[in-house]
Amino acid sequence: MVSITVYDGAETIGGNKIFVENNGRGVFLDFGMNFAMSNTYFDEFLKERDTRGIHDLLCLKIIPELNIYRKDLIPSDLDTAISSFPKLNVEAVLLTHAHLDHCGNIALLDENIPLVASPTSIAIIKAMRDISPSKMSTDLPYMSMRNRLGDGMLLKAESSGEYISRDLACPGEPPEGLHTFIAEKPSASAKPRKKLASGKLCCQDELTLPFDIEAYNVNHSIYGAVAYILKSDSASIAYTGDFRTNGHENGDLDSFIKSAKSAHALIIEGTRAGRDGDHETTENDVYANCLSAVENSRGLVIADFSARNFERLEMFLTIAKKTGRQLVITSKDAYMLYAIECADTVCRSHDVLVYQELRESKNAWDGVIKDRLQLPYVTHTQISADPGSYILCFSFFDMKHMLDIKPDGGAYIYSSSEAFSEEQEIDFRKLKHWLDRLGIRPYGFDVIEVNGEMKPIFDPGYHASGHASRESLEKVVDAIDPDILIPVHTTNGNWFKERFEHVKLVKNGERYGLS
Ligand SMILES: [Zn+2]
Repeated sequence: MVSITVYDGAETIGGNKIFVENNGRGVFLDFGMNFAMSNTYFDEFLKERDTRGIHDLLCLKIIPELNIYRKDLIPSDLDTAISSFPKLNVEAVLLTHAHLDHCGNIALLDENIPLVASPTSIAIIKAMRDISPSKMSTDLPYMSMRNRLGDGMLLKAESSGEYISRDLACPGEPPEGLHTFIAEKPSASAKPRKKLASGKLCCQDELTLPFDIEAYNVNHSIYGAVAYILKSDSASIAYTGDFRTNGHENGDLDSFIKSAKSAHALIIEGTRAGRDGDHETTENDVYANCLSAVENSRGLVIADFSARNFERLEMFLTIAKKTGRQLVITSKDAYMLYAIECADTVCRSHDVLVYQELRESKNAWDGVIKDRLQLPYVTHTQISADPGSYILCFSFFDMKHMLDIKPDGGAYIYSSSEAFSEEQEIDFRKLKHWLDRLGIRPYGFDVIEVNGEMKPIFDPGYHASGHASRESLEKVVDAIDPDILIPVHTTNGNWFKERFEHVKLVKNGERYGLS
């Protein structure tokens, strides 16, 4: 008997936690953070308390009521409740890509559950852990175990500084560089790298999983994204993860469609199914518009795109070369480039400079950038002296550095998604204040008065979505022609229901039997 239970992500964009079971043994497809749920209660200064482990997330039902979590994250007052929750037999988490709405809650899962992901996704996750402050939610793939204090309601990370690593597996043989990368943690001390007690890193064939698993590269707004097909004796289940067809290439999407043909179930993302009057911009459009913006700018150019959108970073590198400028990235971005280079051996950091921010001490990862990538740093003084020679990859949160660089005019190219929340709208208003003060011209967005209120508006020509358009979704569903279609990662499941036969709109936690 094969069944699918979408524990989360059925009716929201992100937070996917899809359990697929075969005769009592199962795997999770993604185990992401549900931002919509989390933002219902939490805020920048009101977060779940790490000292209470998973207590706050469970109490607010931000994570499902299941007995599948790390024991050391369970405070004593949850003991009884946890043991009454269903204990699923989870043999692995299959991650589609390293965005938090897909991987952000994996760190909470029992540490004995291995993570299956592409080498690039593993490298990105490990790098994110290396550059983030240690928190319960970022404890992946290595983690510090918690001990109970006093009556056990409070939890504290072990002070020995020792880490435990989750076992990792890749669809194929893991590359040598990835073995080295996951085994050490950068450190700011005299010894730049600390050895980690590494878990297993192997090919998924070495795990005995309840399904035969095929992974196909797909294009998304982060490298390393895959779609999965799970096969058992009685059923085949295809899961797209997040994907798009407006990038420079489509990865192995065609092979995925071919292999998924007539699957018993197709679980498909529907982010843009809910967007009426959606404009389809391709990466080529974005390239042309951004190139022309840079060509028309004389002073400093700032390019703002999402932190792990390496495809966009490579695009701006090409634009920099074409316009006789040099691309300057933050040290975190440089470390990320190093990470993905360890996974796929493609060197993307040629001719890139790293911004040397004014700070007292070095970042833990600076040593790695210096030793391994050997990238030159550039200071605010050098940029001030010749601002027209650079493209700075900065975002709103880096605007403080402008007070050191003191640019005289220039351009700010916003090449990312539009504001979806009130908080984001506020950030855009603040960003516009910075640009006005510095005399910098915005491209891709502006803030204008609408009915007496200052509102951000966006130019769709400067950003290509990471998700499939309605037209692309239709093509994929028609080509695969599954017995049953399960939309997830969407706020408009009805769009599917109106267009296709055999659509099953599931509710979070509802079990759907296939055979
Ligand atoms: Zn997503």
